Amino acid sequence: MMNVENIYKEAGALLEGHFILSSGNHSNRYLQSAKVLEDTSRAEILAKALAKEIIDSKIKVDTICAPALGGILAGYELARALSIRSIFVERKEGVMELRRGFEIKKGEKVLICEDIITTGGSAMEASKAIEALGGKVVGFASLANRGFCQRVGSDSKAKSECKLPSDKPLFALDDFEFEMYSPDECPMCKDGSKAIKPGSRA
Ligand code: ZN
Repeated sequence: MMNVENIYKEAGALLEGHFILSSGNHSNRYLQSAKVLEDTSRAEILAKALAKEIIDSKIKVDTICAPALGGILAGYELARALSIRSIFVERKEGVMELRRGFEIKKGEKVLICEDIITTGGSAMEASKAIEALGGKVVGFASLANRGFCQRVGSDSKAKSECKLPSDKPLFALDDFEFEMYSPDECPMCKDGSKAIKPGSRA
């Protein structure tokens, strides 16, 4: 069994410090998912492990679709590991759309893939875009799961923030559940440390 957390740490993708999450809450840990995919052999190892979970589940998938931008690399690597088609949807004026000549056949079985699932908001938008075109979304996948949604094989139950449907599987390599604090109650702020937004750093 591979140690996904160690792989993220070695890649510099799991940061430790004092961070502002996209929710506005503070945490002492942060996942910089893109960093784990900059090493192409590491990306391949992770995608193959995720592909194995999907194959073992016996679920039938024709196509992987990722929401741009964050999901594209993970989606492409996963599709390559499964030897199936890889497409992506992207936001145009705030709405997720299939563009660039990509097409979906009626009833085509699509798995939505992200690099990381937090509450699953973007993945759900991608799912709606695919189903509006006649595709059938059979499940979701991501390298990392932040622990709001329940992944296949984990005892950690879905929380109320999870936007993914409970009747479709989420395949992910590991749960990354972090301590989170509202800014007024953050112990690191109380110690005088200043939180940073890692996503916006150069
Ligand atoms: Zn803080």
